[in-house]
Formats: sequence, C-alpha cells, structure tokens
Amino acid sequence: MSEVRVRIAPSPSGNLHVGTARTALFNYLFAKKNNGKFVLRIEDTDAERTSQEYVDNIFDSLKALGLNWDEGPDVGGEYGPYTQSQRFDIYPKYIQELLDKGFAYECFCTPEELEAEKEEATQNKKAYVYSKKCENLTEEEKAKLRAEGRKPAIRFNVAKAQAAFHDSSILEFEDLVKGKLHMDTNLIGDFVIMKSNGAPTYNYAVVIDDALMKISHVIRGEDHISNTYKQILIFEALGFEVPRFGHLGMILAPDRSKLSKRHGATAVSDFVEQGYLTEALVNFVALLGWAPSDGEEIKPVDKIAEDFRIGEISSSNSIFEYDKLKWMNSHYIKMLPIEELKEKLKKYLTKYDLSELTDAQYTRMVEITREPLILLSDITDAVSYFFGGENVEIEPEVQTEVIDTEISQDVLKSFVEQAKDWEWSEENLHEKLEAFRSEYKEKGVKPKVTMWAIRAAITGRTRGADMTATLAILGKDNCIKRAKRSIK
Ligand code: GLU
Repeated sequence: MSEVRVRIAPSPSGNLHVGTARTALFNYLFAKKNNGKFVLRIEDTDAERTSQEYVDNIFDSLKALGLNWDEGPDVGGEYGPYTQSQRFDIYPKYIQELLDKGFAYECFCTPEELEAEKEEATQNKKAYVYSKKCENLTEEEKAKLRAEGRKPAIRFNVAKAQAAFHDSSILEFEDLVKGKLHMDTNLIGDFVIMKSNGAPTYNYAVVIDDALMKISHVIRGEDHISNTYKQILIFEALGFEVPRFGHLGMILAPDRSKLSKRHGATAVSDFVEQGYLTEALVNFVALLGWAPSDGEEIKPVDKIAEDFRIGEISSSNSIFEYDKLKWMNSHYIKMLPIEELKEKLKKYLTKYDLSELTDAQYTRMVEITREPLILLSDITDAVSYFFGGENVEIEPEVQTEVIDTEISQDVLKSFVEQAKDWEWSEENLHEKLEAFRSEYKEKGVKPKVTMWAIRAAITGRTRGADMTATLAILGKDNCIKRAKRSIK
C-alpha cells in the first residue's frame, strides 16, 4: 500500500468545534496506526466567513489536544498549516484543464437569473438543479455577454464526467465506515467550481489539494457524503487517483438534537476555559464512535492509537454525554502530576493572592483539595478559605447551626486556649487534635461534632479538605484569630 496520508481541513469560520476535534483525532490515530502522515489544511476560500482569530484558535486547540500535524510550510522551525488562500495561484491551472477536456464550462448567469430558476423549482415542488443554460454557449454568445461586463463563473459538467467514467448515472463508492454508498448523479446539478471573482469553491479546491497533497484517505463527517460524489467526479475528470473515503456519524447532544451551545461548550477552547483537561477531552472524543478492544475506556492517545482500527468505527451517530466527560475529567485531574496540576490551576486562582502561600503550602493545598474536583475551575470555590488571613466568610447556616451551639462555643474556647501552645506542624497538629477530640469524647461529645466546630469557625464551612493539613497551611496565627472571632 502506498503511504497513508490523511488530513483535517477545517474552515476557520468559528473556533475549533469538538466534532472537528474528533474528526482530527480519528485522522491522527489512523495516521499513527499506519505510520502515515497527518496534514492540516485551513480551508479559507470563503473570505467573508473566515478570520485569523479562528485560524489561531484552530491551531492552538489542535496543539493543546496533542494533535500535531506532520508537515506544512515551515514557520520558524515549526510547521504551519497549508492554507488555501495562499494557494490561489495553483487552482486556475486545473480549471483550464477541465474546460479544455469539456468537463467544465463558463456560466454567465446572474444571481437574479439563478434565483428565478430556484423560485420556479420551488413552485413546481422540484429539487433545484441548475438548468445548464450556459452549457452550450457559442464563442460569439460568450463574447457578447463579456462585452456586457459579465464575468463568468465556472461550472462542472456532472453528466459529462459521469458518462465518461461510469456506465450509468449511478455513482457508487465503498465507504470505509459506512460500506457501499451510491447516488444518482442526475440529482446533482452542474455546480460552480470557480466563482466569477476567481475564488475556487470548496468542492473544487478540496479535490485539487487532496490530490496534490497525495491524501490517501479522506476521513470526515457524514455531512460531507453528498459532496463526495461531486469530488469523486472531479478527481476522475482530472485523472487523479481517487482517495478512499470514510464518513463518521454525527455527534448529537444528550437530547438527540444537533450539539449546540445551548447544551454546553462546543468549542475545544471553551471546554478548556471551563476547566476540562485536553487529555480528558481527547480520550472522551475518541469514544464517540469507537470502543477500545479491552473495554478499558480511560486511555491516553498513544495507547488508543495502538488499538485503533478504522473498520471498527461505528457508522451511527454518537451522543455527547457531558456527564461522562465530567467523570473522565475528574479522573484525569486525579492522575495529573502535582506540578502540572499546580500550574494549570493558577488560571482559576487569580482572585486570590497566591503570595499568601509558600510554594510548599500551595502544593499541600492542591494535594488536599484535588480529590473532589470535577473541573479545574472547581478549585476557585474549593480553596476560598485558604486565603484572606484572619477573615473567612462563614455560611449563614454554618453560623447558626454549628458555630453558635453551646458545645461548639465550648470547643472553640478550649481550642483557642490549648492551640496557642501547640507546635504548628502538620504532624504535631495531627496528634494534638487527636488528643483534643478524645478529651471531648470523654465529656460525651462525638469526635465528629468537635471537629465540626473547629472546621466551621476556621473555614466557614462544614465540609472541606483534610482538617489537620488545612490548619497547618493557614498557620497558627490565622487559625487562632479565626476561632476567636467565632466565640461570642
Ligand atoms: N472545510 C470543510 C469543513 O470544515 C472540510 C471538509 C472535508 O474534510 O473535506 O467542513
């Protein structure tokens, strides 16, 4: 088999969507599995709908996901993507070839004329296909239209190409994911391949690029199946080798509708912003349509790549279960090396003065608060009581139901009394608190109740991170002051 070369070809009309990330991942996995190459191509032929901001977002998101592409123009030692708008000098040559071979023709129809055709089709309740009005214009007729100032678009002659390479109007191909697919090409109108302003259209540029970039397998969303027939005909008309195609099912929201912003984040950068780890996201999207052979769902990308087989991709739609992603994310947070986690969490701690903590205290704080995190952003609330010195915000119910009770008040008084003589290391505090609880237990107070009182006064909450470590991080002074403030 010749070299496997695949590509992801996003249009920069928005931030990188998770659906595109999944398509990118499957291409990447297929390339890795087959020692092939993974190419990134920015499809920005539609200048009005694209922006540099989105190009940068696509770039950054793919990199953040670890989906590095293998080639492209060199930009300062790293690969840039191929960008269609920088390849505009390549496309006219093949347009000319199609015109010369009779597989394309100039179309002078104005938008108004085309609109009228469409209107008529709607009135007759027919699917619209272009009338081919311009197919057989004579040179004189064309010259006359040009003289009127009209600039032609170029249309692909579907029936001609179909007839040249196939026995009937039915075009069939073997999809790597969906099996045999076919379409009656009579239903495909002669479509524009180059606009009157000289810009190539998607279906045309994609073929030229896939051919010149020697793409062996085109793996993309099933919304492109109808384009595939058009593209196959252009490949054939230009004598290019037709790549293999594989179309992935769509990704639906839990309510089975199209995944959209109202369900939650959809762009990779939004997930990251909300506190999802890219490792979790990549692992999660791999499972949208694919399942590991050993049933072990938590798997880093390199392990997934070893196990990945394109023929095993499910041809049906997948449901994007946000809850499952959250579960996975919490798992990945637990597995993240502490130094990395410390770095990643900083983004969500900007409202606090991190200089209140030494690096060792910060490390310990992260160690004792990471367990229940589902999103990295959960850290913001989880650690609020580690900051602010002697001030801590106390939840109203905690005040009335815990701190204000007679037992708590008694506990806090003796805590303040005893703690001022304690050596403030985590180890020592562990012992001291143990003894403190026992003392109260003998007085008939449950250890839990004793600790609640201390926790409530010092953290303002009834639940939270390991108490001994929390006290150690906060320091003696803060703890005693906070406890004192709760004594009536
Ligand atoms: N630019 C197209 C898109 O974003 C690419 C489709 C393809 O992979 O051919 O949908």
